[in-house]
Amino acid sequence: MLIIKNLHAEIEGKKILNGINLQINAGEVHAIMGPNGGGKSTLAHVLAGREGYEITEGSITYMGKDLLELSVDERAKEGIFQAFQYPIEIPGVSTANFLKHTINAVRKHQEKTDLSATEMLKYIKEKAKMVEMEDGFLSRSLNQGFSGGEKKRNEILQMAVLEPRLAVLDETDSGLDIDALKIVANGVNQLKTKDNAFIVITHYQRLLDYIIPDFVHVLYNGQIVKSGDKNLALQLEEKGYDWIKEEVATLT
Ligand code: ADP
Ligand code: MG
Ligand code: MG
Repeated sequence: MLIIKNLHAEIEGKKILNGINLQINAGEVHAIMGPNGGGKSTLAHVLAGREGYEITEGSITYMGKDLLELSVDERAKEGIFQAFQYPIEIPGVSTANFLKHTINAVRKHQEKTDLSATEMLKYIKEKAKMVEMEDGFLSRSLNQGFSGGEKKRNEILQMAVLEPRLAVLDETDSGLDIDALKIVANGVNQLKTKDNAFIVITHYQRLLDYIIPDFVHVLYNGQIVKSGDKNLALQLEEKGYDWIKEEVATLT
């Protein structure tokens, strides 16, 4: 599904990614961990196609296509989903309406007809139920006055209605309580199929008690310096990152 080769990226002339190699197959969950400032969010943004990043070397192939040639919109329509770390508020636009437009835009790209109003509502409600979101929520302005947990739930709802092929979840460094962790985990676990894949960026080993990753990678100084299975996350929880930094220092 995704092959990242020797990816180097800069922002405002500052080198941030220094040769990322990563391969992701359908059906897999990859967790990315690592110390602050390592480049995790940058990688997520580069995958989503956010502006401001210059790719100076390397390649990203997604479903056989050169991902770097696709616009943000095209990437979304090709099934790449990035959860916003800081969700946008849109006063006057209800959550349901926002979802409706997003769903129809993706359906159009897939050459499917728009859902009727009734079908759309049924579809959205079904997914809302899945993320345990109350119906009343759908008529509220997008993210306005949402609590942290509600924003998280809304983000997972967006992911659920879009049924992405590749979802990139970049969790904030703080503010995720245990309920929010469970919302994210339940969402991922319910949406996971043999045909899609997830990249879960997290500081919380605890999240990985609920979402069992197939692979855990440590991103440090713009490189994936270590990969393993879920036990690597437990090791990091126990020992921190210093031993990895030392390993890297010895090797270079
Ligand atoms: P992480 O998500 O692993 O904490 P980031 O990808 O957010 O790491 O950041 C990696 C590095 O890039 C940090 O040193 C950060 O300060 C820097 N960086 C991120 N965004 C910008 C920006 N817009 N301009 C300059 N430097 C940035
Ligand atoms: Mg950070
Ligand atoms: Mg980050």
